[in-house]
Amino acid sequence: MDKTNYIRDLFGEEDKILASISPRLEELGLPLISVPPEVGKWLTMLVRMTGATKILEVGTLAGYSTICLVRGLNQTGHCTTIELKEEHTKLAREHLAKAGFLDRVTTLVGDASVQLAKFIQEDKKFDFFFLDADKVNYPTYLEQVIQLALPGAVIVLDNLLLGGRVLDVNDSHPAPTAVRKVTDLLVNHSRLESILLPLGDGVGVAIVR
Ligand code: SAH
Ligand code: MG
Repeated sequence: MDKTNYIRDLFGEEDKILASISPRLEELGLPLISVPPEVGKWLTMLVRMTGATKILEVGTLAGYSTICLVRGLNQTGHCTTIELKEEHTKLAREHLAKAGFLDRVTTLVGDASVQLAKFIQEDKKFDFFFLDADKVNYPTYLEQVIQLALPGAVIVLDNLLLGGRVLDVNDSHPAPTAVRKVTDLLVNHSRLESILLPLGDGVGVAIVR
């Protein structure tokens, strides 16, 4: 038994809806890259702890993390989630419907950096962000969401360990390079106070000043 399984066995219990998502992704030949149960649980708790009411998620896939985020919201809270692939959004909407959350979530299809730029133009503001889309654009997404952040907003970034690849200094492929860059921003950005938690594949958590 390793640490991950120890934690997952104790704290990572999934209900029927969440448990149905991986088999469904597999059936459709889609990647099994939803957040693991313990990260989902952490997202729910973090939303509840912060009292967030306006969530923005980048990277919807099948809606696993979206459901976890919405579970932490109070009745008036709302979540907007951006996804490049229409097929993924359609699947996410099926899962959100099952969870009874369709009216709590706005699903947007399109490239996240384009959508975020639009939100910046419109002067939209959010108090909680979850970044979990293409890793090469993480630095761009982080700079953009800082501009959309209310004071004290929380930014969560998934996969900051990239399966351990970021630790290998000789791995200079685009994804680890971009993740190292975004992690450096978390450490050094004047408007952020951050930590990297070794939960799941590495979860970055930042507060915006
Ligand atoms: N957050 C989800 C998993 C997301 S997987 C969960 O934990 O349940 C990453 C998703 O980002 C994929 O669905 C992929 O299609 C999407 N994606 C990739 N590039 C993107 C882009 N440029 N803009 C928006 N979404 C993108
Ligand atoms: Mg992820």
